[in-house]
Amino acid sequence: MTDCIFCKIINGEFGTEFVYENEYAVVFKDINPKAPTHLLVVPRMHVESLNELEDKKLMGELLQTVKDVTKKIGLKSYKTLINTGKEAGQEVFHLHIHVLG
Ligand code: AMP
Ligand code: ZN
Repeated sequence: MTDCIFCKIINGEFGTEFVYENEYAVVFKDINPKAPTHLLVVPRMHVESLNELEDKKLMGELLQTVKDVTKKIGLKSYKTLINTGKEAGQEVFHLHIHVLG
């Protein structure tokens, strides 16, 4: 999606450093961290939110990505969060999982 900030990040338009990446997702640091470690796990595919996600396999791959990236950086204890919809605090309408440690 051309006007989506996360799609632009995935396409390398801002030169954002990826902490981790695989076939399904990229992981980068949140620009406004709410914890000492605050990562965003973002699917390469543009999906507005969890409500629009139709690919049942993708969420499994995203959670596996959470496990893989936290293992890679040695983060044993963390919270995961998905904001769905404006009223719940979703600001970027490209599905993402917050990882807070
Ligand atoms: P949400 O409120 O769940 O939609 O979360 C969006 C998150 O994206 C917020 O925590 C923002 O700080 C973060 N964010 C927005 N723009 C960028 C960016 N260019 N690079 C990294 N994180 C961003
Ligand atoms: Zn997008």
